[in-house]
Amino acid sequence: MLKKNLLKKNLLGATGIEVSAIGLGSVKFGRNQQVNYPQAFALPTDNEIVDLLAHARALGINLLDTAPAYGTSEERLGRLLGKTRADWVICTKVGEEFIDGKSAFDFSKTATVASIERSLRRLGTDYLDIVLVHSNGEDKKIIEADEIFATLSSLKAAGKIRAYGMSTKTVEGGLLTLELADIVMVMHNPVYTDEQAVIEYAHKKNKGVLIKKALASGHLNKIPSKDPVLDALKFIFQAPGVSSVIMGTLNPSHLTRNIECARLALS
Ligand code: NAP
Repeated sequence: MLKKNLLKKNLLGATGIEVSAIGLGSVKFGRNQQVNYPQAFALPTDNEIVDLLAHARALGINLLDTAPAYGTSEERLGRLLGKTRADWVICTKVGEEFIDGKSAFDFSKTATVASIERSLRRLGTDYLDIVLVHSNGEDKKIIEADEIFATLSSLKAAGKIRAYGMSTKTVEGGLLTLELADIVMVMHNPVYTDEQAVIEYAHKKNKGVLIKKALASGHLNKIPSKDPVLDALKFIFQAPGVSSVIMGTLNPSHLTRNIECARLALS
């Protein structure tokens, strides 16, 4: 009975990694400055995060999305996941940091290797499941100038990461990522469909697809519907090839609702 209610899992392209159809985004665990959410918010307490993670697990979520650019998110996850780390697929990023209220980008080999070592330390683990390049918008330039996928490929060969790709902002960058990497993360929702061609190409090539900003970063009024969460998820899951939708929340009731809507959308 319980199992039947659990959230669907999908293979992340050809990586062999199985992810729940909804993942939990953790920007709000560690950063509340220079973010694009409709309301200001306080960072959650440790207990609130522990409870939210337990709730997410109980609902069938196994995928957590974090990044060095999300303030204290990685460090807090590492500390609070503790012995449960192996129960989760952890996705983190390289290339962007958030220091003194400002983003800084470095896609060089030295910075990438140092960032991975720091993520391993902060997350208290000896492997990262997924690492995505955190693009500054110049997707193609980063891929070509910094040869970042070659660096990530050697870290994968060394067993430090299991799969890699890029969180892109352009169709050109998304398509190029699919030629060179395992996974792409794209923004996609009923009011932003510019990168749909990337999702379609990923499906054709059996590559993993993670969706960001499914709810337009919480600006639900931008999604013209009486039930924006359900309609956003129905819309997104129409596209074959979507592996997981990363949804950010600090609110346990919103999390429950998001999973209910995902189940309905997938039924
Ligand atoms: P999102 O998932 O579209 O929206 C999150 C916002 O929606 C939060 O403010 C949340 O507020 C609200 N929300 C969630 N569920 C809701 C519900 N059922 N009803 C009403 N409001 C709800 O956007 P996002 O946080 O920008 O993106 C999601 C995740 O994607 C991030 O956490 C991050 O992990 C990842 N991301 C990656 C990149 C990148 O470049 N790689 C960029 C952006 C995001 P409450 O806390 O009040 O629920």
